[in-house]
Amino acid sequence: MEETRQGTGTPHMAAANLRHCVRCGLPETYETIEFDANGVCNICNQRKFKEEKIDWSSRKEMFDDVIEQYRGKGEYDCIVPFSGGKDSTFTLYHLITEYKVKPLVIQFDHGFMRQTLRENNQRTFKKLGVDVLSFTPNWHVVKRLMKEALIRKGDFCWHCHTGIFSYPMQIAIKYSTPLVIWGEPSSEYTAYFDYRDDEIEEVDETRFNRFVNLGITAEDMKGMIENDFDLDPRDLTPFTYPELRDLKRLRYRSICLGSFIPWDVRKQSQLIMDKLGWKGDDVEGMPPGEIYSYEKIECAMQGVRDYIKFLKRGYGRVTQMTALDIRSGHMTKEQADKLICAYEGKKPPSLEIFLEYLQMSEAEFNEIVEKTVVPPFRPDFSCKDCAKKTHDFHTWYRETK
Ligand SMILES: [Zn+2]
Repeated sequence: MEETRQGTGTPHMAAANLRHCVRCGLPETYETIEFDANGVCNICNQRKFKEEKIDWSSRKEMFDDVIEQYRGKGEYDCIVPFSGGKDSTFTLYHLITEYKVKPLVIQFDHGFMRQTLRENNQRTFKKLGVDVLSFTPNWHVVKRLMKEALIRKGDFCWHCHTGIFSYPMQIAIKYSTPLVIWGEPSSEYTAYFDYRDDEIEEVDETRFNRFVNLGITAEDMKGMIENDFDLDPRDLTPFTYPELRDLKRLRYRSICLGSFIPWDVRKQSQLIMDKLGWKGDDVEGMPPGEIYSYEKIECAMQGVRDYIKFLKRGYGRVTQMTALDIRSGHMTKEQADKLICAYEGKKPPSLEIFLEYLQMSEAEFNEIVEKTVVPPFRPDFSCKDCAKKTHDFHTWYRETK
């Protein structure tokens, strides 16, 4: 089979022999997926629960109470971790317009912020009138972390996952501001937490260790890289979750707005476009135009991330997005299959830039990724199909120029 596919088949064909949810099309290699007797996945089932069983008006009252409980208690009413994507932009907009809080906005710059995103952020901050703290970690450290995480886990985003979730908690302590408000709950996308659980998802250390940090703490990472990298122990501080005792002393609360209001990505994206002039963008490997232009526009390396996911698990962002749209009734299975066929699994132009950062050949890259493939998927590394360059490709930082 492998031989007959080489060079001739389109990448999605390799995923055809995986088992898929009969409803949304997610494959068996999707993280946390389980199928019921009818072949419907647990993520579809918890979505149904979200729509039918959750009492959203009482959830809203709970949120109102939390806001009032913390209002005026710290240097700010709350901390809002902010990437500038649709979810954090909506969260900030909602908090300002519905609750008139005084937030401190925290931006963790992973090093790959794109032009449109920076313009969006500037517009959003000016229109809403907020204080903003932006932090960019040392690029030399970031590159070394990317390489190690890629080799260990087939996921180079460790610095980003851990920084985005740790750094705002450190700031909460420094600014004596106990309430931290995130955007979408993870149960929207995975079953690490379940809408059916009685407990509200807390964005805490348990969650951080359950899936954010890939099972690698900053202490582990130190041991992995200190032999061949001139590491100052403080270099890893931005990626370190604060001590629980310090957070407890603060009486912190770290929650997702989406646990308290029904999260509706399309509606919310439209709202921030109308109210804030927020703009979407093309993403490598995704259908062009407006259909998914609101999704994952934050990172110039998103195409590489999605490509690795495809090589590991036989699905990429197109499958993920169409699954959401099928679940919410915006798309039929047939429309989804067409998009998946046309766009998924192609090699992103940014791979070249990424390999320059890591000083790695594509053969070495493939060898590393091959070790992390999730069976029964078997990727076809010989596929030569390339995704289109996005309009801002020439502005992305090159190591060699
Ligand atoms: Zn499903």
